[in-house]
Amino acid sequence: MDYCRAERESLMEGAQQLAEQRGHALTAFVRVEQGLSIFQCQCMHCGKTVVIDVNPDPGEKDMYGEALIIICIEFDGDQDDAKANDRAADESAPDWARART
Ligand SMILES: [Zn+2]
Repeated sequence: MDYCRAERESLMEGAQQLAEQRGHALTAFVRVEQGLSIFQCQCMHCGKTVVIDVNPDPGEKDMYGEALIIICIEFDGDQDDAKANDRAADESAPDWARART
């Protein structure tokens, strides 16, 4: 039993991104049980898990787990890097400053 590798990796990536948006820092995915299509990893901060199923039964989700829903306890929401680049545009001389007759 082997599953499409690209599909598995894009699932893992998608799940990882979702969890990281919530502040989690995930370990690597490991196969839950040999022969199953289910992989699991967990957050190093809070222990919440992410589970992906690369071959879900009809009607089942292909990714689930608390880390996809709940925000990490370590998540501080600090995001003020964006304001740093605001003042650096005053240095260039305009064209008319060079006009001389
Ligand atoms: Zn976490």
